[in-house]
Amino acid sequence: MTKYETLSNSMHSQDRLKVACACGHTSHFNLGEALALFGQDATPYDIRRRLRCRRCHEVGKVTLSI
Ligand SMILES: [Zn+2]
Repeated sequence: MTKYETLSNSMHSQDRLKVACACGHTSHFNLGEALALFGQDATPYDIRRRLRCRRCHEVGKVTLSI
């Protein structure tokens, strides 16, 4: 995802959003989960700002890929 993309224009129904934290923890969201959590207009910037890692409890250290 580039910083100008949003969930709704960069994910397709089969895609999964992969979130990898700097600590090594990774998690995946399907499209429905990602939209429910972040909203269809969420950009990578929004997602990074909102997502707290379940392992290290840091915010803003994740890398996103689809
Ligand atoms: Zn972490």
